[in-house]
Amino acid sequence: MRYIPVPPPTEVKTCSRCSLQSPADAEQCIHCAQLSDRELHQYLQQHQRRLRAGANLGRYFALVAAVILVLMAMLLLKG
Ligand SMILES: [Zn+2]
Repeated sequence: MRYIPVPPPTEVKTCSRCSLQSPADAEQCIHCAQLSDRELHQYLQQHQRRLRAGANLGRYFALVAAVILVLMAMLLLKG
């Protein structure tokens, strides 16, 4: 079996065009270097949507956890 070394944490730089992070040793931004302005705009909108979807999911789980806690508390108080 081949041993695959775990790469050390790479340094990142923030792109001034798309404000996403690329490896510091990358010559071009890995996100937007290949994109036209128009494509970059769409890409960033999708990125924002994904971020927002993730935040909503987090809120949802927090709500579910809160409900479960309340139910458990009610059961304990009754019991
Ligand atoms: Zn970029």
